[in-house]
Amino acid sequence: MGVAGRLRVAVLGATGSVGLNTLDVMARHPDRFEVTALTAHRKTDELAALCRTWRPRVAVVAGPDEAEALRSALPVDAVTEVLHGPRALEEVAAHEMVDAVMAAIVGAAGLRACMAAAAAGKRLMLANKEALVVGGALFMQAVQRGGATLLPIDSEHSAIFQCLPTDRSLWNDWIDHIVLTASGGPFRTRAPATLSAVTPEEAVAHPNWVMGRKISVDSATMMNKALEVIEARWLFGLEPSRIRVVIHPQSIIHSMVACRDGSVLAQLGTPDMRVPIAYGLSFPERIESGASRLDFTRMNDLQFEPPDPARFPGLQLAYDALRAPEGATAVLN
Ligand code: NAD
Ligand code: MG
Repeated sequence: MGVAGRLRVAVLGATGSVGLNTLDVMARHPDRFEVTALTAHRKTDELAALCRTWRPRVAVVAGPDEAEALRSALPVDAVTEVLHGPRALEEVAAHEMVDAVMAAIVGAAGLRACMAAAAAGKRLMLANKEALVVGGALFMQAVQRGGATLLPIDSEHSAIFQCLPTDRSLWNDWIDHIVLTASGGPFRTRAPATLSAVTPEEAVAHPNWVMGRKISVDSATMMNKALEVIEARWLFGLEPSRIRVVIHPQSIIHSMVACRDGSVLAQLGTPDMRVPIAYGLSFPERIESGASRLDFTRMNDLQFEPPDPARFPGLQLAYDALRAPEGATAVLN
């Protein structure tokens, strides 16, 4: 812990959608959080602006050219040490002056830093689902051996985590199955014959969430939900037959736990990543996230439908990959 017991946080992928939302939540609680490290890949101007605001001890960028650009964009008396490359990401994630790591790099590039944070026993807030999809059992072993606290940030997995008791040893007995909700993305009702002509701009125009481009495209194809099925398999220790997916176009219910006794528990909220991020930052407490509140008197419809396998063939690949020999999920990713 830092000054006056503040949680010292490293935000990996600080210039991205999840990274910026994380900083937005932390800015509401200067008494609780301090930023010790910020990282970005190539957006050095954006990162420089964040460093001026947050004054982290360390900043990490992709390579020597980006490091030079960042140094020259910072004031001469800056407190921030600038490092570069994948090794530096690992060092920051495991550093003794870091209590908690927000893993918000996109893609498998985030794996090594996540493994380093896990092995070092950090509070690991995992948005970077691809790292878990690729790392699988090895990732979970690193968490267990390192004594890390793994907290899901993906909204569906945060929803399930919020519905479950904090005592993980109860999970298997509690759960009959879980239901991941999916919005269906921008092409849910588009005539199949027109899908070959969609543009990147149409694909990233998600109906409910504002996110990075890669996850937005994955949402349009439902490959994102495929990755989330695999993510859930590891986070909650469930065999694939206990993980179901339903399309819920309003994105109000963020996922559900169907319990042994017939109870179904759901977590609801407006679609705003600051809610799961705030829970990851404050668990087991709860803090203000900045998200707008649900108004049940204005909510006229909650719809549900099964995903159409012909429209979204990628979803089944998650189940196939989980049944295949270990490593298949990394190939799928
Ligand atoms: P983004 O593209 O907006 O941001 C990605 C961040 O990672 C940026 O800071 C970028 O500089 C950095 N980065 C990119 N490539 C890198 C590399 N090779 N090495 C180091 N850093 C690199 O992405 P995002 O939408 O914020 O998503 C981040 C992760 O969170 C993804 O795994 C995504 O699936 C997951 N996630 C995002 C959301 C969301 O609302 N955006 C929701 C749930 C889960
Ligand atoms: Mg999600």
